Amino acid sequence: MVEQVPGKVDMDKLVSLCKRRGYIFPSSEIYGGMGACYDYGPLGVELKNNVKKAWWKAVVQERDDMVGLDASILMHPQTWVASGHVEGFADPLADCKKCKQRWRADHIKDGKCPSCGGELTEPRMFNLMFKTFVGPVEDEASVVYLRPETAQGIFVNFPNVITSTRRKLPFGIAQIGKSFRNEITTGNFIFRMREFEQMEVEYFVKPGTDEQWFKHWVEERFNWYINLGIKKENLRLRQHDKDELAHYARDCYDVEYLFPIGWSELEGIANRTDFDLKQHAKFSGKDLSYYEEETKQHFVPYVIEPSAGVDRSVLAFLADAYDEEKDKEGLRVILRLHYDLAPVKIAVLPLSRNETLLPLSKEVYNTLQKCWMVQYDDAQSIGRRYRRQDEIGTPFCVTIDFQSLEDKQVTIRDRDKMRQIRVPIEVLKSTLDAKLNGEPMEVLPSGGKKWLGFEQ
Ligand code: ATP
Repeated sequence: MVEQVPGKVDMDKLVSLCKRRGYIFPSSEIYGGMGACYDYGPLGVELKNNVKKAWWKAVVQERDDMVGLDASILMHPQTWVASGHVEGFADPLADCKKCKQRWRADHIKDGKCPSCGGELTEPRMFNLMFKTFVGPVEDEASVVYLRPETAQGIFVNFPNVITSTRRKLPFGIAQIGKSFRNEITTGNFIFRMREFEQMEVEYFVKPGTDEQWFKHWVEERFNWYINLGIKKENLRLRQHDKDELAHYARDCYDVEYLFPIGWSELEGIANRTDFDLKQHAKFSGKDLSYYEEETKQHFVPYVIEPSAGVDRSVLAFLADAYDEEKDKEGLRVILRLHYDLAPVKIAVLPLSRNETLLPLSKEVYNTLQKCWMVQYDDAQSIGRRYRRQDEIGTPFCVTIDFQSLEDKQVTIRDRDKMRQIRVPIEVLKSTLDAKLNGEPMEVLPSGGKKWLGFEQ
């Protein structure tokens, strides 16, 4: 059972919609599932890709001071000694003496088992990194780890990127990729998984300018969620207390979202100082300092790190978009996803399965398919098909009716207010393009007209 914030979409409802409509499935379900692992279905993979695309666009494509990277998941084991993960990436684990369940001791308030009230063992530290072996011999010398964060792949490539791109400070490296943590307590759907994806930036700056760049990234990252439709009242920044900060961090803010389970971390933005580069210089014996031509100085840059979770973002976007409206036919469920995030942008719906509508409908479908993810649906009544599209968050439906065969016009219906306009097929693509980019429905293309019968 999951906890639930009153007034927020019920987590169970969201989980069930995700399963039913093909957003997210439990992993290896036919074998009874795999704890804290999930699979993204046909719609989920589109949504997740769109989240990653939107992030990449904001932090790499639209900036002059950022480049990308895709480092390997398996890294030299010394990486994790240098980063401190072998020594310190651990949570306190306590077992219930009665029901044998395991808990994170630091998450328990009264010292009793949250499940049965039993007595707990003394906590012992449990390293969260997954271990495996390279090569055929399973001995200590061949131990490697599945990375618990993507950041270290960026740090160790700092000299490669500098020499290959001739970048000058300040600049940053962005990476999206899988991370693995053997979390002790899981649950809450895709909020805490053992295999998940991160979107991380390491932004290298001259010491002394770090506070200004830290502020910049905190603002940038907060606004990214707002610009993608998260409601302001559901998002907040929380500064870490001094005793909560990692020993190397000078400052840290969490972007928190009001999930159905309560306010929780969505992303962390930390001023990591020169800790990581210095550690890797020490353990590798390589010089990881930066040479500033203007001042003829060598120094180790400071690093600002915005670190976000893809899956937590997906959960936040889904939870924020979920809406229900009562109407004549019962309940309309709508996913009001930002258009850039919606898995399917347009649905092409012939009014009926009548054969005469088929050629034109397929022609429209095939044209639009070249530009966007489009669904073709001719099963059941038009009303039901609109509802199906609303429930998966499709911004626009295009309906082809018998009149379309004569006047070469089709109807566009929007998801959020169910407004309808009728437009010539020859301007359909450009009209949809404009609408997907935020042009109001009321703006009609030349030759277009309002379809009064369905006006809301
Ligand atoms: P938490 O306190 O929730 O365990 P964290 O502070 O350990 O998170 P970071 O190490 O700062 O997390 O990782 C950066 C981001 O990666 C988090 O803000 C979150 O979005 C994501 N993340 C971390 N652990 C997980 C996980 N087990 N499942 C899904 N996403 C995760």
